[in-house]
Amino acid sequence: MAGWNWSKNIEYKARELAHPTSIDELAELVAAASTGKALGTRHSFNRIADSAAGLQISTASLDLSVSVDRETMTATVPGGWTYGEVAACLHAEGVALPNMGSLPHISVAGGTATGTHGSGNTNQILAAAISGIELVTADGSVRSFDRSSPELPALAVGLGAFGIITQVTLEVEPSYLMRQDLYRNTTWGHVLENLDEVLASAYSVNLHCHYGVDEFRTIWQKSRIAVDGSGEPVDVEVPDIAWGAERWDTIAIEGDRLNPATIPGPWHERLPHFTPQGEPSARGDELQTEYFVGRSDAVAALEALRRMGDDIDPHLRGSEIRSVKGDGLWLSPCVGRDCLSIGFTWNKHPEEVEALLPKIEEALRPFAPTPHWGKLFAMERAELLDRFRRLDDFFTLAHALDPAGTFSNEFLQRLSGEQDAAD
Ligand SMILES: Cc1cc2nc3c(=O)[nH]c(=O)nc-3n(C[C@H](O)[C@H](O)[C@H](O)COP(=O)(O)OP(=O)(O)OC[C@H]3O[C@@H](n4cnc5c(N)ncnc54)[C@H](O)[C@@H]3O)c2cc1C
Repeated sequence: MAGWNWSKNIEYKARELAHPTSIDELAELVAAASTGKALGTRHSFNRIADSAAGLQISTASLDLSVSVDRETMTATVPGGWTYGEVAACLHAEGVALPNMGSLPHISVAGGTATGTHGSGNTNQILAAAISGIELVTADGSVRSFDRSSPELPALAVGLGAFGIITQVTLEVEPSYLMRQDLYRNTTWGHVLENLDEVLASAYSVNLHCHYGVDEFRTIWQKSRIAVDGSGEPVDVEVPDIAWGAERWDTIAIEGDRLNPATIPGPWHERLPHFTPQGEPSARGDELQTEYFVGRSDAVAALEALRRMGDDIDPHLRGSEIRSVKGDGLWLSPCVGRDCLSIGFTWNKHPEEVEALLPKIEEALRPFAPTPHWGKLFAMERAELLDRFRRLDDFFTLAHALDPAGTFSNEFLQRLSGEQDAAD
């Protein structure tokens, strides 16, 4: 048995997990398998990485390494490595990623496959940095795609549908320094009146709240900081009070589980909230959901959720609100529009959360919400088809690359309509 996902709300139905150590071994394995599904670091909350009664394949043990091309400012990285591992190598080479998610523990291939994102008005989802993908397709051949390939915008947020990704080429930039500042204890009134200003106030802004209360818990600003001629950070002016919130003048937040505040540090130790050595979030005692709405609907969508505060809050550990720049990737949750992402970290109340999701989706429906592919959601294909105009093109391409459905699973069959046809 392949075991459980990270938060242990999903026991995989797959009967076996393989750890090939070379691309040849991986290719042979895939060519011989009738079903197989890539498994990353198991941080998704639904069955997207499962392979009912089949095989799961981890690429974490493949004999690959990070290589940086300074001419094209790209880095080719093993898809099975975690963002934390990759970021440490890139930083040692003097280059950086434009953004990271809240945790460095997830794999690059798994994170990008589900549209994982960080925050920032100018920051797109992590998959938008992909300029090339190498994957093993169902017949065991190794195929490469780059910016000149019309398939790349489908493959980048690929939901594991096209093959087993071995390497990903990412756009990089020169390494940079950041600092984060935490503002605590303001009100919903202050935040909603100034939402555009708050979200534009730093390179990456993250808001943490509950819905049924007037208080607004925290505003986290992650700012890029300049260095002087000798490489020392240039001091930045940070107000002590902003939008009614007080700046928390502390360095260590929750011991070493969260990256330090106030003091400058390298990009990969400030962009994620969590440190690689700490167990993130609620240490797995949680479920997660996330929806994306257009930025122009941000205030109205949050007001709709506030009206549901009494239903939401009893099951909510915390909600995180972020801003994400739009892109052109076929299944990106931000395809074609700049977004506000609204994440819910739930208490482990699976039945109550399952009952609540359709109600939240109904409240957000006027704002055409899209779901996070790696988290819990209720919406079905008909609604998703309306949001993702290339959804059927995505499955046409998946079928062309994988005619026998080796990489398909229940999650994808539901999305493609295959399961409805079989019912
Ligand atoms: C505590 C916590 C915090 C989180 N924070 C954020 C956040 O800040 N922002 C955000 O957007 N999301 C966040 N997430 C969600 C998370 O980023 C996604 O669920 C992500 O997909 C997890 O990556 P993984 O490596 O665990 O992938 P898995 O869950 O193992 O797999 C996800 C998908 O990727 C595919 N896949 C994995 N490896 C490969 C491969 N080599 N080739 C092809 N396909 C592959 C799988 O088949 C599957 O379809 C968070 C999750 C947790 C648990």
